[in-house]
Amino acid sequence: MNKKGNLIFLGTGSSDGIPRVSCLTNPNKTCKVCESAKNPDSKNRRRNTSIAILTDRNFEKKNIIIDAGKTFWDSAIKFFPKYNIRYIDEIVITHAHADAVGGFDYFRDWTNFVQETVSVNLREQDLDAIKNIYFYLFENGKVKSKGPIPKTSFNIIDENPFDFDGFEITPIPVFHGKEYISFGYKFGKVAYISDVSKIPESSEKLLEDLDILIIDALRPEPAYFSHFTYDQALEVIKKFRPKKSYFTDIMCAVDHDEANYNLSKLKSSEGLDIELSYDGLNIEFIY
Ligand SMILES: [Zn+2]
Ligand SMILES: [Zn+2]
Repeated sequence: MNKKGNLIFLGTGSSDGIPRVSCLTNPNKTCKVCESAKNPDSKNRRRNTSIAILTDRNFEKKNIIIDAGKTFWDSAIKFFPKYNIRYIDEIVITHAHADAVGGFDYFRDWTNFVQETVSVNLREQDLDAIKNIYFYLFENGKVKSKGPIPKTSFNIIDENPFDFDGFEITPIPVFHGKEYISFGYKFGKVAYISDVSKIPESSEKLLEDLDILIIDALRPEPAYFSHFTYDQALEVIKKFRPKKSYFTDIMCAVDHDEANYNLSKLKSSEGLDIELSYDGLNIEFIY
C-alpha cells in the first residue's frame, strides 16, 4: 500500500540568504525583494536550500533532512517546532559547499540534549571536505566521540540507491559548475535537485514519470556557471513533464508573488504546473 509523506522546504534561497546584507545596507535601497524579506514571514525570506522529509515508518514519524547549510539554525528555530521535528534521524548531503554543510556545528544542541549522534550520509569526497572544514570533529582521521562537539557518524554513499528502514533514496548525479558533480535525490516519485547547471544523460532516466520535481532555478537571467536559470529549468520540465514542479535556490532578483503569478500562466498556455517554493512550504507525497 502506498504511504504518505510530507516534505517541508526548510530553505529555498541561494547561498547568501535573503535578505542580503549588501542590499539592506545599500543607501539607494534598490532591492525591493530584500526590503520585503526583512519581514520574517515574507515569502521572500529565503534560507539556504534544504528540505525535511517526514516519513511514516513502523508507525513512527522519521525525519530525514537534506543539507544543513549556513542558515540551518535559522530554519530549525522557525520550522522544527512548527512541524514537530525533534529528532534528526538522518542527514543527507548533496555536496560540500558551505550552503549545504555550513550548519554542522549546530548538531551539538541535538547531541547534547536530544539524541546520541547525528547520522550524516555523504560521498567520500564530501567527507574529505568535512574533515578540513570541521577538523575539530576528528582525531587521527577518526571521528571524535568526546568533548564539547557535535557527535556525528558518517555513512559513505555513492551513486547507488540507499535506504533508511526501507525508505529508498536514489542519488541523481548532476553537474553543478563545469566539472563539479552534486547529488540530487529521488524518493518515491519525487526528485529534488537543488544545485544543478547541467543534467548528464546518464541521470535522465531518473526524471521520468515524476509526481513532483523540485529544481534549481536561480533567476530568469543572466546565465550562471553553476546554477540553472528559469529557461534551463523549464527545458527540463518540458522534456520530462512531471505532474508538478517547484523552483528552488532562488535569488533576490525574484519577487515571490510576481514570479509565481508569471509561472501560473504556463498552466493554461503550456500545461505546465510550476510554482515557486518558499521557506516553510509543506507538501505531501506518495511513496
Ligand atoms: Zn536583494
Ligand atoms: Zn553548491
